[in-house]
Formats: sequence, structure tokens, C-alpha cells
Amino acid sequence: MQNCIFCGIIDKKIKADIVYENEDVLAFKDINPKAPIHLIFIPKKHIESAISVNETNAQYISQIWLAINLVSKELGFHEEGFRIIVNCGENGGQEVPHLHFHVLAGKKLDFPHF
Ligand code: 5GP
Ligand code: ZN
Repeated sequence: MQNCIFCGIIDKKIKADIVYENEDVLAFKDINPKAPIHLIFIPKKHIESAISVNETNAQYISQIWLAINLVSKELGFHEEGFRIIVNCGENGGQEVPHLHFHVLAGKKLDFPHF
């Protein structure tokens, strides 16, 4: 999708610190980290937000979940714990209109966080 930052990262037109990639999923370090480890997991297909998930693209969600489990093990924060966040729409604080899963780790995180 043109003018989408995350599609630009998928197409390697925009540089990112990529930590994992497969056919369906890309994971990279957030440019403005909110925790010692802050990763972004995205589908390699332009899905606008959580409410755009449907019968034809829902398989990307399970692929992302599997990738999060794998990467959390590879990067060594699987056991100590982490948080997965999906911001959706304006009130949810979504700034980039390409579905993404934040993965925060590396310290004890506050909750709730509004
Ligand atoms: P949102 O607020 O949409 O849930 O989160 C978007 C996230 O993407 C933010 O945490 C922001 O720091 C990150 N981000 C925005 N632009 C870029 C970029 O060009 N590269 C990287 N690595 N992260 C970005
Ligand atoms: Zn996109």
C-alpha cells in the first residue's frame, strides 16, 4: 500500500532494525521504544487495523502469534514475561494504519496504563 510506513518497511524502502521475517510476518524494533525491548510485529499484507481482520486474512493473526512466541524465546524474554498490545483506531491510540502488535519486555511493566 502506497504511503504506508509499515508497507515501506516490508518492501525494504524504509530502513528498520528487523529481528524476524517469514513469508507472512515481519518483526522489527520500534523506532521510539517504550520499554527496554519494544518490538513491532506486522502482517506482510496491508490490513488497516484490528477491525479489518476477517475470514480471508485472519490466518495472519495466528502467524503473528507464533512468531511472537518464537522471537520471545530467541531473544530470551519468553520466561520472564512480556506484554502484547494492539492499538485500534483513534481512541485506541493507533497512529500507523497498518495492523501491528507491540511487544514490550525487559522490565516489570505498569498495568493498567491509560
Ligand atoms: P501505534 O501508535 O500506531 O499503535 O504505534 C505505532 C508505532 O510505530 C509507534 O510505537 C512508533 O514509535 C512506531 N513507528 C512509527 N514509525 C516507525 C518507523 O518508521 N520505524 C519504526 N521502526 N517504528 C516506527
Ligand atoms: Zn501497510
